[in-house]
Amino acid sequence: MAVWPGPNGRLWIQFADQKQEFNKRPTKIGRRSLSRSISQSSTDSYSSGTYNTHTHTHNLPAASYTDSSDDETSPRDKQQKNSKGNGDFCIKNIKQADFGRREIEIAEQEMPALMALRKRAQGEKPLAGAKVVGCTHITAQTAVLMETLSALGAQCRWAACNIYSTQNEVAAALAEGGFSVFAWKGESEDDFWWCIDRCVNLEGWQPNMILDDGGDLTHWIYKKYPNMFKKIKGIVEESVTGVHRLYQLSKAGKLCVPAMNVNDSVTKQKFDNLYCCRESILDGLKRTTDVMFGGKQVVVCGYGEVGKGCCAALKAMGSIVYVTEIDPISHCPIMDGFRLVKLNEVIRQVDIVITCTGNKNVVVREYLDRMKNGCIVCNMGHSNTEIDVASLRTPELTWERVRSQVDHVIWPDGKRIVLLAEGRLLNLSCSTVPTFVLSITATTQALALIELYNAPEGRYKQDVYLLPKKMDEYVASLHLPTFDAHLTELSDEQAKYLGLNKNGPFKPNYYRLRTSSDQFNTT
Ligand code: NAD
Repeated sequence: MAVWPGPNGRLWIQFADQKQEFNKRPTKIGRRSLSRSISQSSTDSYSSGTYNTHTHTHNLPAASYTDSSDDETSPRDKQQKNSKGNGDFCIKNIKQADFGRREIEIAEQEMPALMALRKRAQGEKPLAGAKVVGCTHITAQTAVLMETLSALGAQCRWAACNIYSTQNEVAAALAEGGFSVFAWKGESEDDFWWCIDRCVNLEGWQPNMILDDGGDLTHWIYKKYPNMFKKIKGIVEESVTGVHRLYQLSKAGKLCVPAMNVNDSVTKQKFDNLYCCRESILDGLKRTTDVMFGGKQVVVCGYGEVGKGCCAALKAMGSIVYVTEIDPISHCPIMDGFRLVKLNEVIRQVDIVITCTGNKNVVVREYLDRMKNGCIVCNMGHSNTEIDVASLRTPELTWERVRSQVDHVIWPDGKRIVLLAEGRLLNLSCSTVPTFVLSITATTQALALIELYNAPEGRYKQDVYLLPKKMDEYVASLHLPTFDAHLTELSDEQAKYLGLNKNGPFKPNYYRLRTSSDQFNTT
């Protein structure tokens, strides 16, 4: 695999003798699926998806310890400059830059692939001339991405995709480093759009690439500056919601540039769903309840990627794990050593109930009534309708807020259950997402930008594409050196026998864990 082959071919990540296949996503989204996605989008948010416009929590890592300042002045009313006299930014407080820099340095440790891209880009700048306008969470991890894009040659202007998630000190470090950042924690609705506008609307500077998370930036440019699309080479979109909006545009024939759906890359999905949940389920439960896992009886509803992650973590801690499933074939908890049961068979005895089905009304009032005293109930699935929380809002039940994100719901006989995050995603509400998971996402975004920016005329049309499988594999391979991991190379004979190219891709293009449109199209 040759990386950075140079400007002639204009293909910056080139894979030996392999002609890349570009896996175009079908744009058809049926009416039924559409309505499902829209109703979901008003409910909750999760790692692979973003729902409540600019309050979604996708890729929101460490709890935002940001800003203890009691300065109430709006950043819009302040005149600030960095140490070089540059004032083209709007953030909470430039004086926090040193603290933010340390946060960024910590994040760099867990983002090896981006650091590797920086090294490989020395002397070669695959994003030279790229003017990237971005709208993502502004966190230490995003800062590592932005500084990588800059090392690859891009100019960046950035706003936040979430009014709460900006780490003010990180925004300060970026501004001090010369980035035009317009974001602070606790923006108003008006601030939110103002910041986006400041990124885009600048005399003498026009973006030619968009990196979006949730689709708000793309939407703003469509609405206010449609002519900008004449110069824009492509959109890279991160979230389920944003991707869905792009498919809608494409379906309506209104998408005027190529777009890359990075949400559905296999590597990213595997990390978001399986590994991220395996790491964060214990963290979320522990932070909220201080529960000891050994010997506890736990039922996990749904044995997909998220369920598998939860089960593996709990089993490793010595919990007795039961699983509920509807599908006899594709997910087989029994072979992994878990008891497959119906919820009503174990509901009286379990200490913890975790939903991760992507379905609705999995834990209904009937089950909640039968749980034992002290049972912990939480959800790891996309929607906050997996547990029928609304059914607990009845006069005979008393709600007691005992900690942030922890409610005791008390029955007339004194029995209480411990409801976490009111049935919203436990890990995103109550724990952190590992930086390494965000590293996978950020690397995927960087490669998608490189690919769209450098693609020769005609490779991509005005449509939504998945990252080529080869690049997906490349993202994963860039993370291997961290573990001193060594892949086995196929011999010529073996490659021939398997019908594969020695350099990959090693899976067919149709190989996916699941895609956003699958989610919208389930029947
Ligand atoms: P998946 O489709 O692989 O798994 C879901 C499983 O639930 C399937 O095996 C399905 O057969 C089963 N199921 C459906 N209805 C059921 C029911 N009533 N009872 C028992 N089992 C049932 O999906 P996944 O990748 O595991 O994701 C699960 C959910 O978690 C989705 O909503 C997804 O969007 C969300 N998600 C959460 C996070 C997070 O960080 N918490 C990350 C990624 C995805």
